Amino acid sequence: MDRLLPPTFSSTAPGLTTGRCVLDEHTLVLNRSWIVINVTTVRRSIVMLYHGIARAIEPETFEALDFPSWIERTRAEQHLQIRTPRGMIPVPDVIVLGSYDRPPSTRVPFTRRNLFRRDDGVCQYCGRQVRTQEYSIDHVLPRSRAGATSWENCVLACLRCNAHKGDRTPEEANLRLLRTPRPPDWRLLVGTARDLERRSWRTFLSRVP
Ligand SMILES: [Zn+2]
Repeated sequence: MDRLLPPTFSSTAPGLTTGRCVLDEHTLVLNRSWIVINVTTVRRSIVMLYHGIARAIEPETFEALDFPSWIERTRAEQHLQIRTPRGMIPVPDVIVLGSYDRPPSTRVPFTRRNLFRRDDGVCQYCGRQVRTQEYSIDHVLPRSRAGATSWENCVLACLRCNAHKGDRTPEEANLRLLRTPRPPDWRLLVGTARDLERRSWRTFLSRVP
């Protein structure tokens, strides 16, 4: 029964193809109607399973399994598994929320790549599509005036617009933003090649509202 104690994780997990820790990979979150409402980390999804907040979807049969039933799946060799001090836990690809539907909050990491995707590869001043090698990140309120490096203050800009704007605000440079910069929602996290390759996700992603 030791294995039913709260899971604790080592910093790395076996079975990874890259250097990234599997606990930081994504698990798809469904509401009670089995509609995708979010993604969360594998780490968090296992904690939710443990506390009975969610059940794991068995990828072949679509059974929704509680934590004790899910860890029994360690007998099924096909699952990617995480080693914990108390035994192996299969990585849940998809979980379904149980008694309540409040989605776990997911903040999309602020990275150049994610910013490029949020702004659809379009310069937020002139509207031109920019190539990945030829873009810059513009601080709407310049850094020299304590403008933050954040979702709310950074936009994708072509090199020409960025050079023209220089150390000014858009108003001072007579530029207008196409849209107000905001943090993207979880949908931005779905769509990496690895995610879309996952057969268990495809069934549910076709129903994303
Ligand atoms: Zn531009």
